[in-house]
Amino acid sequence: MGNPIIDDSKQKCPICCNVVHANPRYPNYVCGDCQTNYPPVTANGDRIDFGNIDAFGGFKSIVNGVTGSESECYINGVKCSAGEARFGGVVIQSA
Ligand SMILES: [Zn+2]
Repeated sequence: MGNPIIDDSKQKCPICCNVVHANPRYPNYVCGDCQTNYPPVTANGDRIDFGNIDAFGGFKSIVNGVTGSESECYINGVKCSAGEARFGGVVIQSA
């Protein structure tokens, strides 16, 4: 994959290549449409959800109802990595 950065305000989603708002901290973040259209799965194909542990942040994964700290996931077959976002929430980037 090439450089996702288009300019100071735009970059490309690594999955669908749609233009998204630039985020210099997360140049390979997966856009919301892709996270909706291609729900993240584990390497085994199990659905994996991500979230914060509480209102103060933290990071957790949930697979088959089991909470863990898995960051690896696949979106539309592309290996990605999820993590706690700098200012809350969860960010998923192509790995
Ligand atoms: Zn996308």
